[in-house]
Amino acid sequence: MIKVEEALERILSAVSVLEEEESPLLEAVGQVLSRDIHSAIDVPPADNSAMDGFAVQAASTRGASPASPRVLRVTGQIAAGGRPGGPVGPGEAVRIMTGAPIPPGADAVVQFEDTDEEVRRRAQDISLSHIGILREASAGLNIRQAGEDIPRGALVLPRGTVVNPPQVGVLASLGMVRAPVIRRPVVAIIGTGDELTPLGEPLPPGRIYDSNTYALAAQVKRLGAIPRIMGIARDVEADLRDKVRQAAEADLVLTSGGVSQGDYDMVKGVLAQEGEMNFWTVSMKPGKPLAFGHFRRGQRRVPHLGLPGNPVSSMITFAVFGRPAVLKMMGKGTAPLPTVEAVMEEEVTNRDGRRYYARVSLSRRSGQYHARLSGPQGSGILSSMAQADGLAIIPEDTTRVRAGDRVQVMLLEWSQEKPSLSQERG
Ligand code: AMP
Ligand code: MG
Repeated sequence: MIKVEEALERILSAVSVLEEEESPLLEAVGQVLSRDIHSAIDVPPADNSAMDGFAVQAASTRGASPASPRVLRVTGQIAAGGRPGGPVGPGEAVRIMTGAPIPPGADAVVQFEDTDEEVRRRAQDISLSHIGILREASAGLNIRQAGEDIPRGALVLPRGTVVNPPQVGVLASLGMVRAPVIRRPVVAIIGTGDELTPLGEPLPPGRIYDSNTYALAAQVKRLGAIPRIMGIARDVEADLRDKVRQAAEADLVLTSGGVSQGDYDMVKGVLAQEGEMNFWTVSMKPGKPLAFGHFRRGQRRVPHLGLPGNPVSSMITFAVFGRPAVLKMMGKGTAPLPTVEAVMEEEVTNRDGRRYYARVSLSRRSGQYHARLSGPQGSGILSSMAQADGLAIIPEDTTRVRAGDRVQVMLLEWSQEKPSLSQERG
């Protein structure tokens, strides 16, 4: 039996970052840039106005104040998307909208609020042939310079950056319709067991639905990888072998079940025939029977994580081991899920010397997290997993956590969305 850290180390050293692909901009959300992005253009491409107002020569406004306006001759108007038009000379102004290009000659924009435009309008001066400037402008006022956001040739987004909404915005401002990114891993998921019934079929006596496959597929999907549901392998090696061979194109194979003692040791057997086993049991609870190895497919080695069959065990072992492996393939960091410190509100015992991941719900009172068990902790009790905000990590050598003791809680989901729903319910 090996420790969690060692198991994780072995898994991570057996998977590598995948190749790159060109992804349509929106589909790249959550993927990692595989190349440095340099800008081919200036952003903004030209000097433009940061305000609605009048483009002027700053010198024409010298000494201007509400008591002593400088009256300039209005020679034109430029809307956003318009052309800069003729030059602005001394004593002249061009009415300009936010985002419109600065006309030649002008070096400042005086916003409407600092002119007498309102007064002239009220006085029915519709022609607006002249405008009074009420404040001195300095050169550069309200002008956004070409390239001030991103100069042409600059390294805007380095390789390794995760494409999130702001990065999509930056790439779009460069006019890029596609982005070079690390491709998403395809994760094949195989359920094992004669007792399993696929969803969508009536449940015969003595059977259960194949929930693991879907819970795992959801976890895989959440990470931005592509789950491929391969169906159920019956409890005979030949069946599992067929399914594994069908999954040869995948980047990672997940099985659940068939790894516990007294089982047919199916997964072990097939791993031995089709590839190689790396390790077998990990010192954790739930999740002790966990197999890791790879299948050989010509030159390729397809990593295989043989997760336990119990629904909670399969989800927790995926969160602890599968998740970082998938993230590494995607070119992301492999740090474990974030933890918070919480006060445990009830006693929890841990008698068998393994690391115990207890399902807890969290509440926050006066700046402090409090944790309670989210329900019965049997590894088949999926409902308490659904109630959990996180997993309290009880170390191997801690036999008892008393009420009031502090524990580290690994956050399963970032549950910002949750409070409003529970308020509604309450
Ligand atoms: P095993 O490791 O195959 O002995 O499975 C351990 C427990 O997990 C048994 O109670 C199985 O019925 C259950 N189990 C295994 N696979 C699944 C699955 N895909 N969905 C739901 N429960 C499962
Ligand atoms: Mg089984």
